[in-house]
Amino acid sequence: MPYEATTAFRWTERAFHLIESGGIQTGVVVGEGVVTATVGGPCPRCGHQFVDRQVGQAVTAVRGGHGRDPLPRTVVIDVSCGCGELHAGAPGEVTGCGVAFRVQLVLDAGSDAARPDEASP
Ligand SMILES: [Zn+2]
Ligand SMILES: [Zn+2]
Repeated sequence: MPYEATTAFRWTERAFHLIESGGIQTGVVVGEGVVTATVGGPCPRCGHQFVDRQVGQAVTAVRGGHGRDPLPRTVVIDVSCGCGELHAGAPGEVTGCGVAFRVQLVLDAGSDAARPDEASP
């Protein structure tokens, strides 16, 4: 599998199916307004294991969650392969196969932001 810098949509599609099937594990937490998203599993292109962790500013978008909005909030992150392997044709000492893909995660509805204040005196 040679290195190739690509953002072709099929890798995003493939990542989606890997998440659905449980091959790629995802996690997202919100604490004090900062979103931390973790994606890990086999790369949709090269198949090597990778872990990608993004905090705060790296998060592309958070949609929904305004006021009483009942819809789950989602976060979209752009992940690039971080498998740690050297692929043929990679520039310099760059590791990973060069693929970048997009992952959409649903924020946990039970996180701190919208909790009702039932514990108030
Ligand atoms: Zn890869
Ligand atoms: Zn790889």
